[in-house]
Amino acid sequence: MAYQIIDGKKVSAELKDEIAEIVNDRIEKGQKKPHLAAVLVGNDGASETYVNHKVKACAQVGFESTLIRLPEDTSENEILSAVNQLNNDSDIDGFIVQLPLPKHINEQKIIEAIAPEKDVDGFHPINLGKMVVGLPAFISATPFGIVELLKKYNIETQGKNVVVLGRSNIVGTPLSILLSRKSDFGNATVTICHSRTQNIGEITSKADILIAALGRPEFVTANMVKEGAVVIDVGTTRVKSDKTKSGWKLKGDVLFDEVAPKCSYITPVPGGVGPMTIVSLLKNTLIAASGKK
Ligand code: NAP
Repeated sequence: MAYQIIDGKKVSAELKDEIAEIVNDRIEKGQKKPHLAAVLVGNDGASETYVNHKVKACAQVGFESTLIRLPEDTSENEILSAVNQLNNDSDIDGFIVQLPLPKHINEQKIIEAIAPEKDVDGFHPINLGKMVVGLPAFISATPFGIVELLKKYNIETQGKNVVVLGRSNIVGTPLSILLSRKSDFGNATVTICHSRTQNIGEITSKADILIAALGRPEFVTANMVKEGAVVIDVGTTRVKSDKTKSGWKLKGDVLFDEVAPKCSYITPVPGGVGPMTIVSLLKNTLIAASGKK
C-alpha cells in the first residue's frame, strides 16, 4: 500500500511562520515579545537537547527565551524557589520545568507549584482538569501537537477506533481524553493500553488510528497494525549508534520499515511528533502572552 508520511517537520515550520507573523504584529503594535523560560536541572543529554531545541525555536519565531540551569544536586526547595520566582516575574509569560527531574525531586510537587496561567506545558492538574471538562486550558504540548498534525492532514477522528499505547500524564492520558471529547477532532472511540493490558496486538490490530507512546523502541510490528491504519509514533528512545557523530540516534516505538507499507499515514522518528511538541509549546506561550501589553 502506498503510504503517506506525516511530515511534522514541514507542518511545524509552517506553524512557526504563522507564529512569527503574529509576533511581528505584536511588536508593531508596541506589545512585548512573548517570553518563554525553561528550567533545566542536571546534565541529562536528552533533556539538554530538547531544551536547546525549544530555546532555538523561540529565537526562530521572535520570542524572548530564558534558560535557567541548575545543578543535578539542586534541592527540591531550591527548584521550588526558582519556580516561584518565575511565577512572580511579570516579564515571563510562560515557563516549563524540563522532565525528568533527578530522582530526589518530587516531580508532581514541582508541577503543582507552577502557576497554572504560566504552565505552558499543560501539566498542572488545573490545566488537565479544565481540558477534561472542555474549558479553555493549556493543553499538554505533545497531545496538542498530535491533534494539530491530524488536522493538517485532514485525518478524521469522529467515530474512529483509536488505540493509544501508554497512559502517562503527559502523553497517553491527555491524548486519549482529547480524542474522545465531544469536539472537533475528538469524538473517537478510544482504547488505552498499558503494561498490564492483555493481548495488546489483538487490540491494536482493530485501530483505525494507532498512537504509540511507550518509550519501547520498535514495539509496534506489522502484525499489530490494521491495513490502511494511521500510525502516530510518539516514542523517542536514544539508542547507541556507531553511524552518527553523536554516538546515538533516536528510535521510535514503531518498527517503521515493516509497519509503513500497511499504513495510509505514518509519522517518522525523528521529524514527526517531536517538532510538533515544540511548536505547541510556542503556541501555548503565545496564548499566555496574548492580552498582555
Ligand atoms: P512513560 O511515562 O514512561 O509512560 C510509558 C507508558 O507506556 C506507561 O503507561 C507504561 O505502562 C506503558 N508501557 C511501557 N512498556 C509497555 C509495554 N511493554 N506494554 C504496554 N505498555 C507499556 O512515557 P511518556 O513520558 O509517556 O513517553 C513515552 C515515549 O514518548 C517516550 O519514548 C518519550 O521519550 C516519548 N515522548 C516524546 C515526545 C515528543 O515530543 N516526541 C514527548 C513526550 C514523550 P504503565 O503505566 O503500566 O507503566
